[in-house]
Amino acid sequence: MTLIYSDPLFERHRTGYHPECPDRVLASTRYLESIPWFSQLPKGRLAAAHADLIARTHKSSMIELARETAAAGGGHLDEDTFVSTDSFEVALHAAGTAMAAVDQVVRGHEKNAFCLLRPPGHHATDAKSMGFCVFNNIAIAAHYARDVHDLQRILIVDFDVHHGNGTQDIFYRDANVHFMSIHRFPFYPGTGHVEETGSGPGLGTTLNIPLAFGTTRSQYLDHFRKGLDRTLAQARPELILISAGFDAHKDDPIGSLGLELEDYQSMTRWIKEAAQVHANGRIVSCLEGGYNLEVLPRLIETHVAALAES
Ligand SMILES: [Zn+2]
Repeated sequence: MTLIYSDPLFERHRTGYHPECPDRVLASTRYLESIPWFSQLPKGRLAAAHADLIARTHKSSMIELARETAAAGGGHLDEDTFVSTDSFEVALHAAGTAMAAVDQVVRGHEKNAFCLLRPPGHHATDAKSMGFCVFNNIAIAAHYARDVHDLQRILIVDFDVHHGNGTQDIFYRDANVHFMSIHRFPFYPGTGHVEETGSGPGLGTTLNIPLAFGTTRSQYLDHFRKGLDRTLAQARPELILISAGFDAHKDDPIGSLGLELEDYQSMTRWIKEAAQVHANGRIVSCLEGGYNLEVLPRLIETHVAALAES
């Protein structure tokens, strides 16, 4: 079964007139809960992350800045990243939810999980909130899986249209956590060149698949499939984490790399097959980008349907 985490709490990170807005989760939840099969999926319990677990991933000065800015009534953490009064609490719950999902999936209570959360995370580096991201939820979940559940090999697959620079930075020298990102390039945030492959003990554990605007769907899927096969053979992951951004869809107002709904079904099925090889099917997927409020709910539906199919 696929465990679903969603909660109105994630609407309390108020960003004003901004593409990364509360309506993303509100519209998605409303739509998804109207679908009989979806509404019957088991629901996970939200949890706030303890600050000491976040401190495995982020510098205390960064955590404090988010806390203080929210406590002062809100403000900018970087030019794109705004927090409101409740945002620190919401961000703790986003990270905590990713960790709670890891608990459930690693303990074998459910095969996989999808976390319909915000703020997103993959741009947040160890020292800086950026690109709509306060804390790096997927990186925090990976550290948690390694340190608390003692997993030796973890793979993060990031199909958001933007490069997951924060996740790459955090694990760049890490031999245990492999990172594969497929993204539009050149594009925000400017990183994700094919020659960025890791360093020191992490050399070869980062795989970037940068694709130019205008890349066709079949080319995209071909690159994704080959990259996943290559990473899988090398990483032999005991757990796969997905940075599930849906902004490479053709109707996305920010990313638009031309993907269609069914392409997310294909990618999710391939990741599921990959998870069967070494990870006993274990996947935790967390929402990243995706800004078309009409299309995002259907993209999530497609992704979760593929996660949930037997
Ligand atoms: Zn994105």
